[in-house]
Amino acid sequence: MSEALSHLGTWQESLPWQPVPEQHRQFQRLYELILAGNRQLNLTRITAPDEFEEKHLWDSLRGVISLLQSPPGQQVIDIGTGGGFPGIPVAIARPDWQVSLLDSTRKKIAFLHQLILELGLENVGTLCDRAEKVGQDAQHRESYDLALIRAVGPAAVCAEYALPLVKLGGLAVLYRGQLQPEETQALEPAVKLLGGQIEQVEGFKTPLSNSDRHCLYLRKLSPTPIQFPRPPGIPAQQPL
Ligand code: SAM
Repeated sequence: MSEALSHLGTWQESLPWQPVPEQHRQFQRLYELILAGNRQLNLTRITAPDEFEEKHLWDSLRGVISLLQSPPGQQVIDIGTGGGFPGIPVAIARPDWQVSLLDSTRKKIAFLHQLILELGLENVGTLCDRAEKVGQDAQHRESYDLALIRAVGPAAVCAEYALPLVKLGGLAVLYRGQLQPEETQALEPAVKLLGGQIEQVEGFKTPLSNSDRHCLYLRKLSPTPIQFPRPPGIPAQQPL
């Protein structure tokens, strides 16, 4: 039996959002399932209850906090979701949004598929593929209101994976740790080339360990030119 997540009841102090009892239960169950999955798969290094709560649950929601009041029916994709972050906490917080979890590792996607069933999340789907291929697939390209991407690579690589998938007027959210102003400046030409604009950069501290976090909000303003995303491997080898 894993330990209880003990801070969920005080999120309101650091996040203008509070889980209701059913969401609280789902977060606790998610924790148990991730710990169990970690025995076979390398899903996360973050396993202590406080750290899990802060760095996986709270952090996942903090990146979309200003969007959590958006209308029902938002189409969301979490690119390189790994153990389901930030996509699963977002799907728990907004059961009326549709969330697709994308990862290129088959074992992780098989695990997530089972986890979704066990959590009873009817608003979550999985997709096993490379972001570079999904971004060129007409079924997915420019189809999402919101693309989330955390811990998948340098910011320019994340932008190339995410922006092609976003609808005109939609947003890509790049979850980052430390971020220097020069990095944001350096990202601007790549975002422009992909049809976007850096709308906002938000810095904040996590509530328990006081760690630095940043989120970059990229607004899609015009269609992404068809050569992006480039073929698998190229964005990471030759970032824009
Ligand atoms: N987003 C999760 C988080 O923040 O805990 C997991 C991050 S993990 C470090 C990076 C994940 O991205 C891995 O599961 C990996 O398989 C996936 N990934 C890396 N490159 C990818 C690509 N080009 N397309 C799809 N998934 C990718």
